[in-house]
Amino acid sequence: MPDTSPLEALIRKQIAANGPMPVSRYMQLCLTHPGHGYYIHRDPLGRGGDFVTAPEVSQMFGELVGLWAASVWNAMGMPSEVKFIELGPGRGTMMADALRAIRILPAFHDAISVHLVETSPVLRDRQREKLADAAHVEWYDSIDDIPEGPAIIFANEFFDALPIHQAVKQDDGWHERVIEIDDDVLAYGIAKNPIPRFEVLLPPLVRAAPNGAIFEWRPDNEIITIARRLRDQGGAALIMDYGHIRSDAGDTFQAVAKHAFANPLKNAGLADLTAHVDFQALARAAEDIGARAHGPVEQGAFLKRIGIERRADALMKNATEDGKKLIIAGLSRLTGPSPEGMGSLFKVLGISHPSIGVLAALSDQGAQR
Ligand code: SAH
Repeated sequence: MPDTSPLEALIRKQIAANGPMPVSRYMQLCLTHPGHGYYIHRDPLGRGGDFVTAPEVSQMFGELVGLWAASVWNAMGMPSEVKFIELGPGRGTMMADALRAIRILPAFHDAISVHLVETSPVLRDRQREKLADAAHVEWYDSIDDIPEGPAIIFANEFFDALPIHQAVKQDDGWHERVIEIDDDVLAYGIAKNPIPRFEVLLPPLVRAAPNGAIFEWRPDNEIITIARRLRDQGGAALIMDYGHIRSDAGDTFQAVAKHAFANPLKNAGLADLTAHVDFQALARAAEDIGARAHGPVEQGAFLKRIGIERRADALMKNATEDGKKLIIAGLSRLTGPSPEGMGSLFKVLGISHPSIGVLAALSDQGAQR
């Protein structure tokens, strides 16, 4: 066997024993295997890590998310207790910046308790340090474990880390894409039989794709749990991630290490594996069970609508020359075009209790479901 990571050795054993493994199973093992999963032992964020996220680019991101939440709290009728739930909080930076911004609204600030869903023990420690001043913070393995009550839920770059399935179109239907061993290396293959009745479940755009096309989907568990909770107990969610507004065919399964793309089938457990988020699928799943979806809109438009330019101007007034450069660079990274900017690749989707007709900055940009 060639030189492999400890997790790859384990995956090869499983494939040898049980046959080819669906992409989703491979992705799940690589990210969250208790012994060797990518997220379990490291802090991947920041310049010295593998990737940088919006809250790590600039404090403005978390501050504006906090102010967005204040407008949601108003729309909820200003309940005296509201849970801030964050899925995959990373270093806790967004939550810390949001809570600091909200201090100017004491009645809101005092109503908040913080509930974090995190798999990584290393990142839990970072979050504990970052949020040492917050009054009430609890950690959970799953959103299902969080006590009842109205909530404002945040997820930045969380959904892209949840395992995807892939299917490949062939003459006789769509076959699940699998990982097998070919010439002694991990390689893609397709399951022998097509997935029964898969075609009828697909959006028309995808159904018309040519042979060889790939379609990706995630199980609905997380979005259904979020939508059901908001429908039954009130509140809203803000989901931010890279992805597409409409469901479409395409292979977006990718590995990132040291700020560069890598081969997802190499170095299992040592690189971050992600895939784009299908925002149409999220919005539809939420609406199907009776929550309301808002947007999605592009991140650049969302941040401008909630006032990132005014916030940048205010910060510039007291900044040093170097500080000013950082603020301008942060603003352009968060709102500007690809490839350097995150403004159009990243999308923002709101989900709410059906009685909340409008969520700040999230009116549709004409997306049709
Ligand atoms: N939101 C942060 C971190 C994004 S990285 C930021 O924007 O900086 C993805 C985060 O999700 C990490 O905190 C990771 O540990 C967590 N995560 C990944 N898969 C998870 C899962 N299945 N359950 C809970 N947390 C998960």
